[in-house]
Amino acid sequence: MLTIPATIAEAMIAHARELAPHECCGILGGTHGDVSAHYRITNILATLSEDELERFDAPKLSDLKQLSPEERADIAFQMDSQEMGKALRDIREKELMLQAFYHSHTMSPARPSQTDITIAMEFEGYREKLNLPEPLHIIISLLDAASPDIRAYRIHNGEATEVPITRS
Ligand SMILES: [Zn+2]
Repeated sequence: MLTIPATIAEAMIAHARELAPHECCGILGGTHGDVSAHYRITNILATLSEDELERFDAPKLSDLKQLSPEERADIAFQMDSQEMGKALRDIREKELMLQAFYHSHTMSPARPSQTDITIAMEFEGYREKLNLPEPLHIIISLLDAASPDIRAYRIHNGEATEVPITRS
């Protein structure tokens, strides 16, 4: 289970709304499933080269190549690695732990896409070298604009399992 203070949940929704129709992304820190720190991270997908896009699953890749950088950012995300490093250092300095990564879906439900699962599995491949705990993956869906949906998942061995969220 993951507990998110209402102020942080509202800040994540505000971030998603500000960036829409682009996807926003960020990091949550805390202790033992209690979130207490929120970091907005820049979505750099719009600046990736064609080679870097090869990581994306085939059906989505063919779509991505036909899109402008701005359009690409509407349907996927990648966190700026420097900002990510800075947020993770701040989490350590506060004696907190990484709890979750989040991103928004502006036009689809709060469920991981195949690309989301691919990105999460890539991160799993080098996470231990970074000495980080396994993060949950949160998706904020703006599909119902009046009432955004926030859901968390554990992504393990290519499978996403929902983890309940409590707002405190
Ligand atoms: Zn996604």
